[in-house]
Amino acid sequence: MNLFKKLMRHGGSLLPIHGYYFDRPLLLLQSDDWGRAGLRDHEGAQQLQNDGLHLGERPYDFYTLETAQDLAALSQLLKRHHDASGRPACIEMNFILANLDFPRMASEDFLKIYLRALPDGLPDAWQRPGLFEAYREGIDAGVFFPALHGQTHFCQQAMERELASQGERSKLVKTLWKSGTPYIHWRMPWIGYEYWDPENRNSDRFLSAEQQHAAIGAAVGNFARMFSTLPRSACAPGYRSDESTHKTWAHFGVRVAQNGPGSASPPHLDRFGVLQLYRTLDFEPALYEDLSVEHSLEAIRENFRQGLPAIVSVHSINFHSTVKDFRTGTLSLLDELLSAVEAKFPSLLYLHDGDLYDLTQTGTYPPGAKANIVGVTRRAFRPGSPRSKRGSG
Ligand SMILES: [Zn+2]
Repeated sequence: MNLFKKLMRHGGSLLPIHGYYFDRPLLLLQSDDWGRAGLRDHEGAQQLQNDGLHLGERPYDFYTLETAQDLAALSQLLKRHHDASGRPACIEMNFILANLDFPRMASEDFLKIYLRALPDGLPDAWQRPGLFEAYREGIDAGVFFPALHGQTHFCQQAMERELASQGERSKLVKTLWKSGTPYIHWRMPWIGYEYWDPENRNSDRFLSAEQQHAAIGAAVGNFARMFSTLPRSACAPGYRSDESTHKTWAHFGVRVAQNGPGSASPPHLDRFGVLQLYRTLDFEPALYEDLSVEHSLEAIRENFRQGLPAIVSVHSINFHSTVKDFRTGTLSLLDELLSAVEAKFPSLLYLHDGDLYDLTQTGTYPPGAKANIVGVTRRAFRPGSPRSKRGSG
């Protein structure tokens, strides 16, 4: 490799990048995994227990699927909170746009993956009356903002490889599938994430550009059918994205890429014109019993002090309630957090990724608005080395 190429590959990350800084406190809520079916409520749990799986070892054993009531409760909370401009708080929901088509897979002895697109409904035997209407009601009210997570959360080639091998791993998969549960990631991390196959060599873990193009294109198509619009923001499952992912997102009109917590980097444009955002903190009461509103507030205050938006990560599991009530505790803590931020920062603005993109590119948001005056400056920064992170997108 010649020196220039080496510099580009290794030195590129050392060159300064221009980041965006803001003179007002901006807060965003980003939330992953909406639309992704998990444990099929009590019936699915019972079946898995009968098959010898001891559920309850970790919170994600009780990841199910949001209900219309979960969404109504979240929507009500967000509507009670307003920023300095009078707008309600808004949560960005990153959607998984397909679930497993269990009856079709069962007819072929679970050897191949078939998907049911989310806009076509949930897999058979799932009962979620009013759920899709509840998504739309929140979107219309401006308290939900739909964005792209993926087509499936797991890596399909990794899953199909294990099915073909007919080993212990495939037995576990089939046990879960017979109960209508797609997977429980911590029990089978070898399924990886949609664009990332963990069993490959380090340099080959990301799927090829062609494979990613196919997966992202399918997900964008389902998103358009589901929400009658195209996604403006995306977050890769497990935060596992590479240049091919960003290039493909840009190709399909995505303008914002969400990254996990840990780097404290300012928002900045990448070479595809995609605004890269970095989450500030994990606010996950379902996962961390030691979660402290005070510590979360401290992290938010530090970002504001640096002129950075505070981006709060809170996954959908925190709002689930059907097998275990994660929702009540989360809403109470989120209420406390938002109230504290509003009280401490009276000029606070609640934005979603689309607003933040518009603000960096046009100096205002929503397009044409005059009310939200925010000073935006652009200056060089050096990307720091990521701090350790515990979340997993
Ligand atoms: Zn996720």
